[in-house]
Amino acid sequence: MSSVFENYLKIRSDVKNLCEKSGRNPEDCTLIAVSKTKPVEAIMEAYEAGCRDFGENYVQELTEKIPKLPEDIRWHMIGHLQTNKVKYIVGRTYLIHSVDSVKLAREIGKQSEKLGIVSDILLEVNIANEESKFGFKPDEVAEAVSEISSVPGVRIKGLMTSAPICEDPEENRVFFHNMKQLSIDIKKQKTDNVYMDFLSMGMSGDYETAVGEGSTFVRVGTAIFGARDYHLVK
Ligand SMILES: *Cc1c(COP(=O)(O)O)cnc(C)c1O
Repeated sequence: MSSVFENYLKIRSDVKNLCEKSGRNPEDCTLIAVSKTKPVEAIMEAYEAGCRDFGENYVQELTEKIPKLPEDIRWHMIGHLQTNKVKYIVGRTYLIHSVDSVKLAREIGKQSEKLGIVSDILLEVNIANEESKFGFKPDEVAEAVSEISSVPGVRIKGLMTSAPICEDPEENRVFFHNMKQLSIDIKKQKTDNVYMDFLSMGMSGDYETAVGEGSTFVRVGTAIFGARDYHLVK
């Protein structure tokens, strides 16, 4: 079995090559190591390989890990976030990917203003209209962008999606393509306080396809750290 160190380096070089292959700058897409359920030691192994971007899903796990790990890590909140937990993470994350309601954006804005900061957020899109998923439906995104753009304390930096679980990553190409198109359409509106710089899409099973379609953040867990054991999480 290969180590976390090797896995991280291999996927990072994969991502760079895929960027070049699709005519993009190799630095355009950042590999986020998704470390939910994984211990500090595993995170440090990826850190030693050069990783500075880590993704976490659970507020309590994230706040427990932050003080135990190097300060130059950029923490990405990628999991569903409850409004009442926002106060624990605002000011401690680099980017909140999983903003799935106007109410949540308002709370992030409110807590950010208390700290005198502006938080960068992505709007989560349920691009395949899946019943079980969080996120704005594709036809709700424009209105959400327009409402959230006037919320003080937050800045919309782009869009995020988790594509359906698939056998063949090619099945998700259409969804990644639609995400990119959605971000282009929003950018064209030139709304104040809305920047479509980031597109967070692609996971262990489909990051190659996502990079080809314009992803700027791939979120890879299993392919770096191995399978997860959820019994370890509260
Ligand atoms: C867990 C998770 C990932 C990583 O998934 P893998 O398939 O293990 O790479 C990416 N994004 C989100 C939102 C997740 O919850």
